[in-house]
Amino acid sequence: MRLPLLKSDDPGLRQVASAITDPTAYQDLVEDLWETMAAEGGVGLAAPQVGQSLRLFVTGVKGEQLACFNPTLVTSSEKRIPWEEGCLSLPRLLGEVIRPAAVTLEYQDAAGQTCQRAADDLLARVFQHELDHLDGILFPDRISDKSKLRTITEKEWQSRFEANQSQQPE
Ligand code: ZN
Repeated sequence: MRLPLLKSDDPGLRQVASAITDPTAYQDLVEDLWETMAAEGGVGLAAPQVGQSLRLFVTGVKGEQLACFNPTLVTSSEKRIPWEEGCLSLPRLLGEVIRPAAVTLEYQDAAGQTCQRAADDLLARVFQHELDHLDGILFPDRISDKSKLRTITEKEWQSRFEANQSQQPE
């Protein structure tokens, strides 16, 4: 089921989400998050974005679907790189955020197994962006120079997500 997204200044986007004790009890939510992410053309979606204040996000990068419960970063590279980010909850807004280029995420999968996934490139960026959602942080919070934020047209916004649907890295 495709779920409605919280947008912009909705207070639900600003909460620190709660840990999940039993990932296996959330299979329906995971399916709904994947469906919603795909329908929106995103590459990641966090539970708080659909009004569920839980430490869970899903990603879909280069055809690999992950459901990450209670995720934490266990390593972050010294190397930090700029990348222009957008967010399904902040339509038409883009901004360059500087973050570690590579990270290792530890999380529980949908079966409750503890996993680690090393990531660079787009997946590393998505992990960090989605992790922020679980702490009520939105990407513009990471940009001190607000001139680095820009608003694009609806048409440009749509074409950006069509590109994501074809799984091209940005
Ligand atoms: Zn986002």
